[in-house]
Amino acid sequence: MAANKSLEEKQKIAHERSDELKNAVSDYREALQKMPIGFERWPQILENQKRIKEYFKASEQDWENWRWQLKNRITTIDVLKELLPLDKQELDEIDKTGSRYRWAVSPYYLSLIDPDDPDDPVKKQCIPTINEYIDQEGYDDPMGEEYTSPTSAVTRRYPDRLIIKVTNQCAMYCRHCQRRRGIGEKDLATPREELEEAIDYVRNNEEIRDVLLTGGDGLMLDNQTVAWLLEELDSIPHVEIKRFGSRTMVTMPQRIDDELCRIFSEHLPLYVITHYNHPLEVTPRAREACFKLARSGVSMGNQTVLLKGVNNDPFVIRKLNQDLLKMMVRPYLIFHAKAVKGTSHFRTKVEEGIEVMEKLRGYTSGLAIPNFVVNAPFGLGKTPMLPEYLISMGKDYLKIRTWENKVVHYDN
Ligand SMILES: *Cc1c(COP(=O)(O)O)cnc(C)c1O
Repeated sequence: MAANKSLEEKQKIAHERSDELKNAVSDYREALQKMPIGFERWPQILENQKRIKEYFKASEQDWENWRWQLKNRITTIDVLKELLPLDKQELDEIDKTGSRYRWAVSPYYLSLIDPDDPDDPVKKQCIPTINEYIDQEGYDDPMGEEYTSPTSAVTRRYPDRLIIKVTNQCAMYCRHCQRRRGIGEKDLATPREELEEAIDYVRNNEEIRDVLLTGGDGLMLDNQTVAWLLEELDSIPHVEIKRFGSRTMVTMPQRIDDELCRIFSEHLPLYVITHYNHPLEVTPRAREACFKLARSGVSMGNQTVLLKGVNNDPFVIRKLNQDLLKMMVRPYLIFHAKAVKGTSHFRTKVEEGIEVMEKLRGYTSGLAIPNFVVNAPFGLGKTPMLPEYLISMGKDYLKIRTWENKVVHYDN
């Protein structure tokens, strides 16, 4: 570009570029007009909550108590059909699939469903369909977790960090769950001896500096047990950070109570990794829970699973990630759905995930861009998949492609 242009000429060029950039998001802005979004749906969701509370004869105080939410999870067709209009076929499918795979929905999560939308993305994540029952494709344990478990509650797949499964319970059982084989017919916390064994394993292996407490849902534990686990881990000098894996901020935000936040604030540095899949799940109530955690000093990250019919749309993921940032949750990972038996109807092609990444970079805040990963078989680890930006390399130059698909020469 010539350096001898006048200021007016430079600004004219800048304005033309601005128009070009504005156009680069016009299709997205148009798509938002039709996209269901939790913040916009909130008045309708509050109506749903009113109906559900009336059915259970629950007070506002009951509703805001996570024990009440957990105790009143919807687990039978008889209750479900009172709260959500379902046709005969849907009820039959729930009945049949429910005989093989557990289902349970917290009243809060159920309230996010639009009763008039048969394809509601929240409904697809929590209400069973026949697709699960007839699926013959997947494996029970695609990651071979049973071969990477040095003590019963531990999964170790990496040099310096590991997972401790503290419970098999969840506030809602995701229809796409990757650990279905472990989610039994009963809600079970991991026995104390197994937790002690896991902590001993961490204590005896000095290279472990990062411990992930998950399940099931890591925050199904009571506050006392959470505090005990964090105290034990903080007593191990080589443990640098702790993480909790929990979907309660999505499915039962009432779980994030004052006492839990106080405990967390006493055990920093602590990260909570959650699992939002759709902008409908990002609600004012969820934001309240996330802000509470943030005020306690907890950092939050999000893991999304790319699910056919739920969120396999680059614009849905872009909006989700932008809305997560509004509640101080940093998009961390997008998973390609694994071949878990009963979930094949949710699987996408890997290319779709790469396309999602392509439509994030440049178009929106770098903070809204997670890593897209596939889980390598046999527990060999998360493996990043990226669009290609490096076209070729010469001795002292690169040929690169920008986010807008402009191919440029770059001196090296
Ligand atoms: C995902 C995972 C971790 C954490 O991996 P990060 O890339 O550090 O988030 C640790 N252990 C196991 C077994 C995992 O599956």
